[in-house]
Amino acid sequence: MFDLIVIGAGSSGCALAARASEDPNRHVLLVEAGPDYSDLRSTPFDLVNSHNNSYSAHDWGLSYLPTAGRDVRFPRGRVTGGSSAVNTTIALRGVPEDFAEWAATGLPEWNWEGVLPAYRRLERDLDFGERAWHGDAGPIPIRRYPASEMTLPHLAFFEAAKALGYPECADANEPEGWGASPQPMNKLGRLRVSCAVGYLAPARIRPNLDIRPETLVTRLIIENGRCTAVEVRNRTGAIEIIRARLIVLAAGAIMSPAILMRSGLGPRAQLEAHGVEVHRDIPGVGQNLSDHPALSVTMRPKDPAMIDHDAPIIQSILRYTAPGSDKRCDLQIEMLSFTGRRDEPQFGIAGVVEYQHGRGELRLASADPDAAPVIDMHFCEDDRDLERLVACYRDVLDFARQPAIADLAEDIVFPRGGSPTDERIAGLCRRFAGSGYHPCGTAKMGPASDPMAVVDQQGLCHGVDGLVVADASIMPAVPRANTNLTAIMIGEKIGEWLRTRPALYGL
Ligand SMILES: Cc1cc2nc3c(=O)[nH]c(=O)nc-3n(C[C@H](O)[C@H](O)[C@H](O)COP(=O)(O)OP(=O)(O)OC[C@H]3O[C@@H](n4cnc5c(N)ncnc54)[C@H](O)[C@@H]3O)c2cc1C
Repeated sequence: MFDLIVIGAGSSGCALAARASEDPNRHVLLVEAGPDYSDLRSTPFDLVNSHNNSYSAHDWGLSYLPTAGRDVRFPRGRVTGGSSAVNTTIALRGVPEDFAEWAATGLPEWNWEGVLPAYRRLERDLDFGERAWHGDAGPIPIRRYPASEMTLPHLAFFEAAKALGYPECADANEPEGWGASPQPMNKLGRLRVSCAVGYLAPARIRPNLDIRPETLVTRLIIENGRCTAVEVRNRTGAIEIIRARLIVLAAGAIMSPAILMRSGLGPRAQLEAHGVEVHRDIPGVGQNLSDHPALSVTMRPKDPAMIDHDAPIIQSILRYTAPGSDKRCDLQIEMLSFTGRRDEPQFGIAGVVEYQHGRGELRLASADPDAAPVIDMHFCEDDRDLERLVACYRDVLDFARQPAIADLAEDIVFPRGGSPTDERIAGLCRRFAGSGYHPCGTAKMGPASDPMAVVDQQGLCHGVDGLVVADASIMPAVPRANTNLTAIMIGEKIGEWLRTRPALYGL
């Protein structure tokens, strides 16, 4: 019998398990479907190498529907560290206005003043640690490439941004800042400092923290309105029941809602359609899927030798606001030193909608724990998102035409055919917009008065005792930033509450 079982050793789960197990009297079990590498020497190169994402060696093999009729691969990390172990290591925070909006939905603990201490606690900012809004002693080191380490495409990006009149911003995580910046990144040289490296490595020595890798949680056990245990399939294929006083679900924005539904917690009609016994009808589970739709311009370089798949893919960032928008920093533009194509050298520039109005949904395909859920993004169906992706893409094309960048390119590979009209760009967005890989919101926080809220602001599941959800799925909306730091911040914040305010959780 454990005090706490944490399901999923991802960005949130590692931070939460590490913080909660700081109390030596609290026996914590961290359960992870993927493998665990207990030191860097035994860690495979794809997880160490932060210059590019790891897409397949430690992946769930999912796919998603970005827009109607398309089925596209959807990477998610399956290993201790979760998606933080396979990602690009962009370490951006949401803007204060994101959290003002969260708080306004009935979540006062999650206003900017409420989240800033957790953002500070998680980081060791090697450039600006002494600034009031930064931390200098957390488990995740954050650094920006200096000009001397910038590769050619990123130097050209800064030159183009300057020519287009965007301001420079030394610290993209400055709360009120915007403009062209060196990207803050949680990497040291090539090393990706995932949450397995930053949080688990120092915590795994504790006798009160157990880690069970290669153990798939098949469902939660609900007895008389209380979550009392988890059912797992262990590495030998055997089914086990493990009990705890509190269960924390941190399997990420795709798997957490799927596990809830398989356990009889979700929209009644959907559960019944799959023959799952309904323990509680929770209509919000799987709804409110929020992400960052994106579309890139790709170019063929004049000098193929410029494309080096062994160099950093990302070094720079532009955070800015769409014309006439009342949502500050609702757009991002990113230079990509190379694209995924290995057969033909290419580089690109991505335009990304950071403040998304539309929502997708996630549905069970089957009650089988090995069956992937259906992930339906509905990108660009909300006109406000479409208009801003079109505006952003126009700006991306302006970047591509700036001499600093145009001089590096032989030609534009996508889109073909000169200057596209807005109508044509809108068509491209509807056909080709893809995910920033930032799904969240599928078990959202909200007060009990919100019928679509799944958990309260402490992460406690409405109407089910002994169950917390703490990962990207509880975000009410995607923040205007890549989501890793915010997912870690959630694990930090709820982990700290578990340690310092255990009575809130019945511990
Ligand atoms: C390729 C890629 C690139 C990205 N790049 C960036 C970036 O540069 N910057 C950024 O900010 N964000 C990035 N993201 C997004 C960011 O990494 C995620 O938002 C964040 O890691 C989500 O954290 P989480 O804890 O919610 O989920 P995850 O980190 O995905 O953790 C979930 C964990 O639960 C485990 N799990 C799931 N189901 C089960 C089960 N049934 N039983 C046991 N364990 C289970 C998973 O294996 C995983 O370890 C990227 C994501 C991807 C996939």
